[in-house]
Amino acid sequence: MSVSRRQFAKLGALGFAAQVMPGMSAVAQESGKKVGYCVIGLGRIADHFMRGVQHGSTSKITGLVSGHRDKALRIAAQYGVPESSIYSYEDMDRIRENKAIDAVYVALPNNMHAEYTIRSAKAGKHVLCEKPMATSVSDAEAMIDACKTANVKLMIAYRCQYEPTNLKAVKLIREGAIGKVQVIHSAFGGNFAAGEWRLTKKYGGGGSLMDVGIYALNATRYLTGEEPVAFSAFTSTLDQDGRFNEVDENLVWTTRFPSGVLANCSSTYGANMPGYYRVYGSKGWVEVGPAFSYDGMRLRAQYSSGIMGVPDVQLDEENPDKDPMHFTREADHFSECIVKERTPKTPGEEGLRDMRYMKEIYRTAGVTVL
Ligand code: NDP
Repeated sequence: MSVSRRQFAKLGALGFAAQVMPGMSAVAQESGKKVGYCVIGLGRIADHFMRGVQHGSTSKITGLVSGHRDKALRIAAQYGVPESSIYSYEDMDRIRENKAIDAVYVALPNNMHAEYTIRSAKAGKHVLCEKPMATSVSDAEAMIDACKTANVKLMIAYRCQYEPTNLKAVKLIREGAIGKVQVIHSAFGGNFAAGEWRLTKKYGGGGSLMDVGIYALNATRYLTGEEPVAFSAFTSTLDQDGRFNEVDENLVWTTRFPSGVLANCSSTYGANMPGYYRVYGSKGWVEVGPAFSYDGMRLRAQYSSGIMGVPDVQLDEENPDKDPMHFTREADHFSECIVKERTPKTPGEEGLRDMRYMKEIYRTAGVTVL
């Protein structure tokens, strides 16, 4: 049974969160009631998310929206979703009447995020939307406005901000373990096949920055805790096989933060480039690589516990979590925000900031998008 919106409000008002047993989420403790998610777009990332939800204790899959009914029926059987809770893109607004659906997970190509976020908000459902938030700054703003007007929550699925190894890197930096941060290097890339919607301007919005570079951009922001003040950037498209007629293939950019920290980042659609970052400070460095994968996150660090002395601390730690644990953490967070009436850690505004920065990065590289 799902938690109704009235129940959410009541639980929040009763300060339910404060009475939660250690190690057990508020939602799970409330007599096994779970936040119900309707997944919109049953592709690759949706599969990770649905497995993540099933793995956790706070949430469950209670609805599906798909253009392929056969696939939806198969997945519905797998997750115990009734046939009556399968929708098409045309009739998905009917989720409004479905009390088992508390929230939606928008897992569609980038250019469809705005429409389905806004329609879901109008149907009175909370929205967890994949990154990048949209394919234009104005769409991202409209999504935030629609969710505010409908009084529903909006979270952008920046899963790395809920992942323990990334969080440990942030903690080390905040505690001053590596001294004063000077420079960050980060990169992420994938070799995508021809025919992918990602390689079209219409569906992708832009090139590799929109899909994979955004991880590095977002990481430089959560690692520094600062907002960029300036960018410089270059793109190149080698286009050796005709895949890149519409979007850029390679992008490198440099970010300057208010403190003077500089970040040097790159992304590509033309090569497999494992996602990583290395942060250099006055007392040492911390690296996470892989940093943006679905599992296997590894943190290494080397720094001096004294003031600029010989490095005497060495860390090498791997997060033992396996896929789909990332997605469990992400869903748990949003479900708890819904129950406890809290703002998610990565709300729409976080996605909007990246949209503005990506627009600026592309502008400085001479590309007009977003
Ligand atoms: P897929 O192509 O695998 O899935 C997208 C799904 O959207 C399709 O399976 C389809 O579902 C539906 N869809 C509806 N209209 C279209 C259309 N015109 N063309 C293609 N698909 C359509 O994409 P991904 O799952 O890889 O990416 C989805 C979103 O998730 C993107 O925004 C991407 O950036 C993001 N993403 C996030 C990741 C993360 O780690 N957070 C990792 C990968 C992607 P159906 O058949 O059910 O209609």
